[in-house]
Amino acid sequence: ANKARNTKTAASFALGLQNAKQGEVVTRFPPEPSGYLHIGHAKAAMLNQYFAKMYNGKLIIRFDDTNPTKEKTEFEETILEDLSLLNIQGDSITHTSDYFDTTYDLAIQLIKAGKAYTDDTEQALMREERGKGVASAHRDDSVEDNLKHFSEMKAGTPDGVRWCLRAKISVDDQNKALRDPVIYRCNLIPHHRTGDRWKIYPTYDFACPVVDSIEGVTHALRTNEYRERNAQYYWMIDALALRPVHIWDFSRLNFIYTLLSKRKLHWFVDNKLVKGWDDPRFPTIRGIRRRGMTVEALSQFMLAQGPSQAIVSLEWDSIWAINKKVIDPIAPRLWAIITDNIVPVTVNGAPESAEVKQLPLHKKDSTVGQKNVVYTKTILMEQEDAASFEDNEEITLMDWGNALVQSKTIGPHGEITSLTMNLHLEGDFRQTKKKITWLAQPTDGHRLIDITLLDYDYLITKKKLEEDDDVKDFVTPVSEFREAAFTDANAAALKKGDIIQFERKGYYIFDGAEDGKLEFIKIPDGRAANLASK
Ligand code: ATP
Ligand code: MG
Ligand code: MG
Repeated sequence: ANKARNTKTAASFALGLQNAKQGEVVTRFPPEPSGYLHIGHAKAAMLNQYFAKMYNGKLIIRFDDTNPTKEKTEFEETILEDLSLLNIQGDSITHTSDYFDTTYDLAIQLIKAGKAYTDDTEQALMREERGKGVASAHRDDSVEDNLKHFSEMKAGTPDGVRWCLRAKISVDDQNKALRDPVIYRCNLIPHHRTGDRWKIYPTYDFACPVVDSIEGVTHALRTNEYRERNAQYYWMIDALALRPVHIWDFSRLNFIYTLLSKRKLHWFVDNKLVKGWDDPRFPTIRGIRRRGMTVEALSQFMLAQGPSQAIVSLEWDSIWAINKKVIDPIAPRLWAIITDNIVPVTVNGAPESAEVKQLPLHKKDSTVGQKNVVYTKTILMEQEDAASFEDNEEITLMDWGNALVQSKTIGPHGEITSLTMNLHLEGDFRQTKKKITWLAQPTDGHRLIDITLLDYDYLITKKKLEEDDDVKDFVTPVSEFREAAFTDANAAALKKGDIIQFERKGYYIFDGAEDGKLEFIKIPDGRAANLASK
């Protein structure tokens, strides 16, 4: 049996499943409806979908709803939305709770076979006994006693709720997962689907193998921190003579400066340190999608991780660099100019009244579309650019031509307050050091659009929080940065979620309007310097 269980070798580079037959593979993604999905879930979901497609099989989305204390219908809806943000649709949607009758019957079967016993050992003592490999005082209780206690558990009586049901596997196996794990416990909180029908719920350790087997799952993908529980998974299947399932394990995804635990993410939301579950600083599917992560990049990244077993904290840079390669060929190019200390520039030789030209939105791909570029006598430039010019320097006005700096006026703090330039269209742009973005000053015929550029830092200041670190000691004091800017009227055509490049600034995703301003969130491009604070 062990051979069948060794489902994968560490050196298998090609992404495939063992003993997989075309048309017969069934995989499942089993989120608990207790929060929103994050990038770690995306790995699990995408690998499951990938194998189901690869073998022309089926993907089950199974809500793993065995703990009414944490679960809500609302989270089922949001999880399905999260999955659709990943372009994942299951072939069916099921619930562990669909099988509560079956798991109950199977628990009775285990008790009758002498393979499970009820236990009211107090939790701390049970933990100690399991740690030391000491048998519970109830381990050898009679089948009759066990059935009686289990029926009291089922009724949720005051006496019943003190008990739990444990699989009788081993007292002292080297693998602690085999030391009589709890397989059923009481919970009087109503379940979001089954209401108060049940007072007892199977644990993950019991429900997962049972439901996998019953639902026809052929390959169960699990993160390898469960590896020592694999033996337990197979024990349940053997003990109940259920159809075997292959386990294919992969490493849990972690990122530096990032929390991927629902509990900790809840803490940030509850303390209003983020604006919600879709905050661009959040590693949730909504958060990263809102920040401009594409499904294509996520998928490439996850499949490249594939069968790796190494549990390491990855850098965000690598996935953002993949994303950049995806968006660069298709992102329309626009210009934005920082509003603060903006510099009006008189361009001698420019048309007296505004002229409009159509230019491609992407220089390498005309199918991206066209934009209108307005040429006027007075244009606007950023202070940083204007301040860098030498007297008489020849620079290039992008999409226009070269110009010579003729004169500048300087304000009380040394800032440039205005510039005059002479167009020099015969000049060679290859000879200039500076290619400058600019915008036509608004006139009657054309306008500029007020925008806000947003950039974000990590939410926490430590690469990897340890178990006993308190999150609140490591919250980045300021992690959102806003800058006012202008762009031209071309931006009016954008829809929320559109990705563009503001040339010389970077890639941005249009996040909608706020207080009459269009907001653009900077999309990290994988270069280390892209954090606003660094
Ligand atoms: P959390 O600890 O955040 O509550 P969880 O693992 O309990 O997460 P589930 O909803 O039970 O969340 O997870 C559903 C699936 O996603 C499981 O198969 C789980 O293994 C997988 N998964 C969760 N987190 C990660 C991660 N960081 N990397 C890879 N897979 C993950
Ligand atoms: Mg879980
Ligand atoms: Mg977890």
